[in-house]
Amino acid sequence: QADSAIEANEKTGTAFAFDQTIKLPDGKRHVSNIRFPIRNKEGETTHVGGLVFDRTVEKEAADAISAAREGLHQSEKLAALGQLLAGVAHELNNPLAIVMGRAAMLKDKLAGTAHEDSIQRLRDAADRCARIVKTFITMARQTGPQRTMVQIPDLIEAALDMTGHGLRAAGIALELQIEPDLPELTADGDQLIQVLMNLIINGQHAMAGQQNEPKLLITARQEAGTARILVEISDNGSGVADDVAARIFDPFFTTKDVGVGTGLGLSVCQSMIEAHGGTLELTRPVLGGATFRIGLPPGEAEVVDRADAKPAVEIPYRGSALVVDDEQEVADILAEMLDEKGMTCRVVTSGQAALEALAEQRFDAIFSDIRMPRMGGSELLAAIERDYPDMIRRIIFATGDVLHPEVDALRKSGRPIVEKPYDPEQLRAALLQLHEIGETP
Ligand code: ADP
Repeated sequence: QADSAIEANEKTGTAFAFDQTIKLPDGKRHVSNIRFPIRNKEGETTHVGGLVFDRTVEKEAADAISAAREGLHQSEKLAALGQLLAGVAHELNNPLAIVMGRAAMLKDKLAGTAHEDSIQRLRDAADRCARIVKTFITMARQTGPQRTMVQIPDLIEAALDMTGHGLRAAGIALELQIEPDLPELTADGDQLIQVLMNLIINGQHAMAGQQNEPKLLITARQEAGTARILVEISDNGSGVADDVAARIFDPFFTTKDVGVGTGLGLSVCQSMIEAHGGTLELTRPVLGGATFRIGLPPGEAEVVDRADAKPAVEIPYRGSALVVDDEQEVADILAEMLDEKGMTCRVVTSGQAALEALAEQRFDAIFSDIRMPRMGGSELLAAIERDYPDMIRRIIFATGDVLHPEVDALRKSGRPIVEKPYDPEQLRAALLQLHEIGETP
């Protein structure tokens, strides 16, 4: 190019600029050149002067910015999709509350009859729906990790609830090898489910269009010698070439087409696992495709064993309850669940009606929905605080929309919040909370 620069200078007699990428033994350099003619007294070009600017750093930064911008765009799209799904999921919570509540009650009624098995299956299916909805909601909710004691087989089951249909539709055989009696983990279960789902879906993608019989293997075991728990996800798909393996955990690294892959999956998975003190690595393939291994430290034993720490308290379903929900069916199911356990319930379908009921009688517990037309949970709370301050301590909020800002705001009030669909364990815990702090008679 230098020669052509001289030619150009000779022809035009002017300065000339061009960019080039040059290969050096230690890598590429992006340079900008300026060439200009140097003339003698007669005006003939005798030399060509030149300046070279090394722009490698700028060029790489610009490339990184545009990759990041593209990635951000993708993750914004994902976030929007997540919010949409969360909205749908929350709409499903009210009907699910009815299905689960009715099933739980029927199960008690039908215990020991020929229908017991059917109702159990109905319940299991409803539970599974509730789990799926909950996973969607937590995926869209971006809070810090919530550590609890979790069981690996439960997490795998939850991840498969969400991905199983895709695997079956793609004709992928699934094999599970899960060691019995694995120790529990102290972890954010929802995050771990997300990681598992990601690895399963990546495996599924890697097997798409392959000739062989596609197969996914998930194993969970305790590492011999250390207490670490190892979960491996293997597929017999395309496998990972060495140059891809070197960059596979880099953010935005993807071999998929634009709009298909974001390249964020594995990097996000790795940072989530590392935040748990664990490791995520690509390891020797077990089935011929790829094998990803998650290694996690076992959970710390819970500080207090709750059952031992406190003498068994009487189940706190005592006295009267006011149930406030703008959906009559949802209010009814909660009231019936509480009735079953021995509480006397009154149902109202608006905040205004709740205040009217309070004018007539006091309640041992007030279960109030949060998002209701006209008077929502916060307004009801304010009205009760003003008119019946002694009743504030009896309020338990109920919601199917844990993402809503009003729900977040109410969390700060310190009142217990139960999530729809209701399950008896949750109700019991919330009532116990009123009871434990000495707030029921
Ligand atoms: P994305 O799936 O959006 O591309 P990831 O970070 O999840 O982002 O994956 C990065 C890349 O790693 C993929 O584009 C693919 O090339 C490769 N990869 C991931 N999982 C597998 C697998 N199970 N088998 C083969 N290649 C895989």
